[in-house]
Amino acid sequence: MLKYANFDIVFQEVPDEVTLAINISNCPNQCPGCHSKYLWDNIGKDLDFNELNRLVSHYESGITCVCFMGGDNEPDSVSELARKIKDSHSNLKTAWYSGKNDLPQNVPTDHFDYIKLGRYMAELGALDSATTNQRMMKRLADGRVKDITEWFQRNKHVEVLEVEKNPAE
Ligand code: SF4
Repeated sequence: MLKYANFDIVFQEVPDEVTLAINISNCPNQCPGCHSKYLWDNIGKDLDFNELNRLVSHYESGITCVCFMGGDNEPDSVSELARKIKDSHSNLKTAWYSGKNDLPQNVPTDHFDYIKLGRYMAELGALDSATTNQRMMKRLADGRVKDITEWFQRNKHVEVLEVEKNPAE
Protein backbone atom coordinates (compact mmCIF):
# COMPACT_ATOMS: atom_id res chain seq x y z
CA MET A 1 0.00 0.00 0.00
CA LEU A 2 1.29 3.44 -0.90
CA LYS A 3 1.68 5.90 1.96
CA TYR A 4 2.07 9.65 1.90
CA ALA A 5 3.96 11.73 4.43
CA ASN A 6 2.44 15.13 3.59
CA PHE A 7 1.19 17.26 0.73
CA ASP A 8 1.35 20.85 -0.48
CA ILE A 9 -0.12 23.20 -3.07
CA VAL A 10 2.73 24.14 -5.41
CA PHE A 11 3.17 26.38 -8.47
CA GLN A 12 6.52 25.50 -10.08
CA GLU A 13 6.56 21.70 -10.21
CA VAL A 14 4.19 21.43 -13.20
CA PRO A 15 4.23 24.21 -15.84
CA ASP A 16 1.28 26.61 -15.68
CA GLU A 17 -0.64 24.45 -13.20
CA VAL A 18 -1.67 24.88 -9.58
CA THR A 19 -0.75 21.50 -8.25
CA LEU A 20 -1.70 19.38 -5.28
CA ALA A 21 1.64 17.60 -4.73
CA ILE A 22 1.47 14.47 -2.60
CA ASN A 23 4.76 13.29 -1.10
CA ILE A 24 4.80 9.50 -1.14
CA SER A 25 7.12 7.73 1.30
CA ASN A 26 9.12 4.46 1.15
CA CYS A 27 11.28 5.85 -1.66
CA PRO A 28 13.70 3.16 -2.94
CA ASN A 29 15.96 5.42 -5.00
CA GLN A 30 18.54 6.67 -2.48
CA CYS A 31 19.64 9.52 -4.75
CA PRO A 32 22.98 11.10 -3.82
CA GLY A 33 22.24 14.46 -2.22
CA CYS A 34 18.58 13.62 -1.59
CA HIS A 35 16.75 16.67 -0.22
CA SER A 36 13.98 14.61 1.42
CA LYS A 37 15.59 11.69 3.19
CA TYR A 38 12.62 11.38 5.52
CA LEU A 39 10.75 9.94 2.52
CA TRP A 40 13.05 6.89 2.50
CA ASP A 41 11.10 5.52 5.47
CA ASN A 42 7.74 3.84 5.10
CA ILE A 43 5.89 6.55 7.00
CA GLY A 44 2.62 8.40 6.85
CA LYS A 45 -0.95 7.63 6.00
CA ASP A 46 -2.26 4.98 3.61
CA LEU A 47 -2.92 6.43 0.18
CA ASP A 48 -5.79 4.47 -1.30
CA PHE A 49 -8.29 6.05 -3.66
CA ASN A 50 -10.68 7.00 -0.85
CA GLU A 51 -7.96 9.01 0.88
CA LEU A 52 -6.75 10.54 -2.38
CA ASN A 53 -10.28 11.44 -3.41
CA ARG A 54 -10.86 13.06 -0.02
CA LEU A 55 -7.80 15.28 -0.49
CA VAL A 56 -8.56 16.11 -4.10
CA SER A 57 -12.21 16.91 -3.43
CA HIS A 58 -11.24 19.21 -0.55
CA TYR A 59 -8.82 21.26 -2.68
CA GLU A 60 -10.41 20.83 -6.09
CA SER A 61 -11.75 24.38 -6.41
CA GLY A 62 -8.21 25.80 -6.12
CA ILE A 63 -6.10 23.32 -8.07
CA THR A 64 -5.69 22.29 -11.70
CA CYS A 65 -3.39 19.29 -11.29
CA VAL A 66 -2.64 16.37 -8.97
CA CYS A 67 1.00 15.27 -8.77
CA PHE A 68 2.31 12.07 -7.24
CA MET A 69 5.76 12.80 -5.84
CA GLY A 70 7.47 9.40 -5.72
CA GLY A 71 5.87 5.99 -5.40
CA ASP A 72 8.60 4.16 -7.31
CA ASN A 73 8.21 1.09 -5.11
CA GLU A 74 4.65 0.67 -6.39
CA PRO A 75 4.40 2.24 -9.85
CA ASP A 76 1.33 0.19 -10.71
CA SER A 77 -0.49 1.69 -7.70
CA VAL A 78 0.50 5.23 -8.73
CA SER A 79 -0.72 4.53 -12.24
CA GLU A 80 -4.02 3.14 -10.99
CA LEU A 81 -4.64 6.16 -8.74
CA ALA A 82 -3.92 8.53 -11.63
CA ARG A 83 -6.36 6.64 -13.83
CA LYS A 84 -9.06 6.94 -11.17
CA ILE A 85 -8.42 10.66 -10.80
CA LYS A 86 -8.82 11.07 -14.56
CA ASP A 87 -12.07 9.08 -14.45
CA SER A 88 -13.56 10.96 -11.51
CA HIS A 89 -12.12 14.48 -11.89
CA SER A 90 -11.80 14.99 -15.64
CA ASN A 91 -11.07 18.70 -15.14
CA LEU A 92 -7.74 17.95 -13.44
CA LYS A 93 -4.36 17.18 -14.97
CA THR A 94 -2.22 14.40 -13.50
CA ALA A 95 1.54 14.33 -13.02
CA TRP A 96 4.12 11.95 -11.63
CA TYR A 97 7.58 12.79 -10.28
CA SER A 98 9.48 9.53 -10.53
CA GLY A 99 13.05 9.19 -9.32
CA LYS A 100 13.73 6.40 -11.82
CA ASN A 101 15.65 7.04 -15.01
CA ASP A 102 13.18 5.10 -17.16
CA LEU A 103 9.47 4.42 -17.21
CA PRO A 104 8.46 1.16 -15.50
CA GLN A 105 7.81 -1.82 -17.73
CA ASN A 106 4.21 -2.95 -18.20
CA VAL A 107 2.68 -0.06 -16.25
CA PRO A 108 0.19 2.14 -18.16
CA THR A 109 1.31 5.77 -18.24
CA ASP A 110 -1.16 7.21 -20.74
CA HIS A 111 -3.33 8.81 -18.04
CA PHE A 112 -0.50 11.07 -16.90
CA ASP A 113 -0.31 14.50 -18.51
CA TYR A 114 3.22 14.98 -17.17
CA ILE A 115 5.97 12.62 -16.03
CA LYS A 116 9.30 13.64 -14.57
CA LEU A 117 12.04 11.05 -14.86
CA GLY A 118 15.56 10.86 -13.46
CA ARG A 119 17.36 10.42 -10.18
CA TYR A 120 18.37 13.54 -8.31
CA MET A 121 22.11 14.11 -8.60
CA ALA A 122 23.22 17.16 -6.67
CA GLU A 123 26.19 17.90 -8.93
CA LEU A 124 23.93 18.06 -12.00
CA GLY A 125 21.05 19.88 -10.38
CA ALA A 126 17.28 19.59 -10.62
CA LEU A 127 15.01 20.38 -13.58
CA ASP A 128 15.86 24.09 -13.52
CA SER A 129 19.59 23.41 -13.92
CA ALA A 130 21.14 23.59 -17.40
CA THR A 131 23.16 20.46 -16.59
CA THR A 132 20.33 18.38 -15.16
CA ASN A 133 20.01 14.69 -15.96
CA GLN A 134 16.27 14.84 -15.19
CA ARG A 135 13.57 15.17 -17.83
CA MET A 136 9.98 16.40 -17.73
CA MET A 137 7.74 14.86 -20.38
CA LYS A 138 4.37 16.28 -21.39
CA ARG A 139 1.62 14.38 -23.20
CA LEU A 140 0.27 16.55 -25.99
CA ALA A 141 -3.37 16.66 -27.09
CA ASP A 142 -2.60 14.38 -30.04
CA GLY A 143 -1.04 11.76 -27.75
CA ARG A 144 2.58 12.49 -28.60
CA VAL A 145 5.00 12.95 -25.70
CA LYS A 146 7.27 16.00 -25.67
CA ASP A 147 10.34 16.76 -23.58
CA ILE A 148 9.62 20.14 -21.92
CA THR A 149 12.55 20.21 -19.47
CA GLU A 150 13.76 23.43 -21.00
CA TRP A 151 10.65 25.22 -19.59
CA PHE A 152 12.08 24.97 -16.08
CA GLN A 153 15.36 26.59 -17.04
CA ARG A 154 13.55 29.38 -18.92
CA ASN A 155 11.15 29.95 -16.06
CA LYS A 156 13.98 30.16 -13.54
CA HIS A 157 15.54 32.89 -15.68
CA VAL A 158 12.26 34.85 -15.67
CA GLU A 159 12.14 34.66 -11.88
CA VAL A 160 15.65 36.10 -11.62
CA LEU A 161 14.73 38.95 -13.96
CA GLU A 162 11.66 39.70 -11.83
CA VAL A 163 13.81 39.95 -8.71
CA GLU A 164 16.26 42.24 -10.50
CA LYS A 165 13.41 44.46 -11.67
CA ASN A 166 12.23 44.83 -8.07
CA PRO A 167 15.44 45.15 -6.06
CA ALA A 168 13.67 46.66 -3.06
CA GLU A 169 11.51 43.54 -2.56
S1 SF4 B 1 13.61 10.13 -5.58
FE1 SF4 B 1 15.69 10.62 -4.86
S2 SF4 B 1 15.59 12.78 -4.23
FE2 SF4 B 1 13.47 12.03 -4.33
S3 SF4 B 1 13.01 11.32 -2.22
FE3 SF4 B 1 13.76 9.56 -3.39
S4 SF4 B 1 15.95 9.48 -2.94
FE4 SF4 B 1 15.24 11.53 -2.38
